[in-house]
Amino acid sequence: MVVPTLWQEPVVSISLGWVALAALLAVVLLISLAVLLTWRYWQRRASAASHAPSWLPDLLNSLPVAALVADPDGQVVVHNTEAARLLGLGGARELPLALRTLVQRVLASDVSETTEIPAPQDAQRRLRVTVTALGAASPAASPVKNALVLVSDPVELRQREMSYRRLIGTVSHELRTPLTAIMGHVDILGSCSVEEEALWRRSQRFIAGEVQRLARLVDDLLSLSRLETSPSQMRPVNVQAIAEEAISALWEAAERAQVTLLLQAPPGLPRVLADPDRLQQVFINLLDNAIKYSSGGATATIRLYDEGNVVRVEAADTGPGIATEDLPHIFEPMYRGSTAAIRASLGTGLGLTIVKTILEQHGATISVESALGEGTTFTFSLPCA
Ligand code: ADP
Repeated sequence: MVVPTLWQEPVVSISLGWVALAALLAVVLLISLAVLLTWRYWQRRASAASHAPSWLPDLLNSLPVAALVADPDGQVVVHNTEAARLLGLGGARELPLALRTLVQRVLASDVSETTEIPAPQDAQRRLRVTVTALGAASPAASPVKNALVLVSDPVELRQREMSYRRLIGTVSHELRTPLTAIMGHVDILGSCSVEEEALWRRSQRFIAGEVQRLARLVDDLLSLSRLETSPSQMRPVNVQAIAEEAISALWEAAERAQVTLLLQAPPGLPRVLADPDRLQQVFINLLDNAIKYSSGGATATIRLYDEGNVVRVEAADTGPGIATEDLPHIFEPMYRGSTAAIRASLGTGLGLTIVKTILEQHGATISVESALGEGTTFTFSLPCA
């Protein structure tokens, strides 16, 4: 009876040992496999990002369309500001699910596709996207194939086209009216006798004023057209320095109008991603309005706030404020306030349209709060670089 016990015990103990060893080996193997796969995944992503040439962001930002490059996992490698705006990317690297699936399908089939997907921020709207596979520049160095994604909003494009048509109608009218008046005064000049010097001088002053206004109108129209045709030159910029330059440029005009210009900013403000010349134009237009419409003793202040991933900008004045019925229209091309004082001033009605267009190119929207007799505050936020 002792023999079988002696014979069985070693067998059981040996097989348990082997099982334990095999299980241990399997666990080690699984862990190694997981580590290897994770390492290859990150290597592939790092390789995709590091193989994005340094000039690619500039190239994408110079395109007049929303564009981005995505890797095979549907992660954004590089994008332009317009693409970030349309797709609501913020700081995110992950594409919306519908677009990610499309990118993966196109990279698997190598056949470009154009289709419509729901807009991420508003499912009622559709975005048109074209996805094209980009061959790996050097298959030996990087086997990763990325995708070029072009995005447009058909409704926005139609609205833009309609607003251009409306603008052409308004511009023609705005040019026609002063030209007719100028022609009338030219006739008066032609028929004035030597004794009518006062009448002669009045007509001459009128013509000079209207010609000046027309010249400003043409300048503003050219600025607006340049904004649409030449892309923004985005780079990390010191927003405080740009605001200071705008204040210096308008210092004399402010002194003449007895308006005090101020700048309030916390120390160590982060840089923002912006086109410095265009951002300066935004500050100049907002401050110019504050000076133009305020009477002596008023203050116009630029306030900058560090809000983590954005810098919030406020341009506030203690001027006359804007009438409630004007507020919804002030960013429309050539809209001028309804009060007599404003209609009599020398504006063109394009200053705020230019501001809004520039900020849209920076992926920012501008808002306004105003109360008659109290003042006006414009607010927008710029993404940190
Ligand atoms: P413009 O100043 O040439 O008339 P804008 O597009 O710059 O054109 O402004 C549109 C309108 O908005 C102005 O005519 C004026 O009625 C109103 N507005 C803009 N900024 C101010 C301000 N700071 N204070 C009062 N009204 C303003």
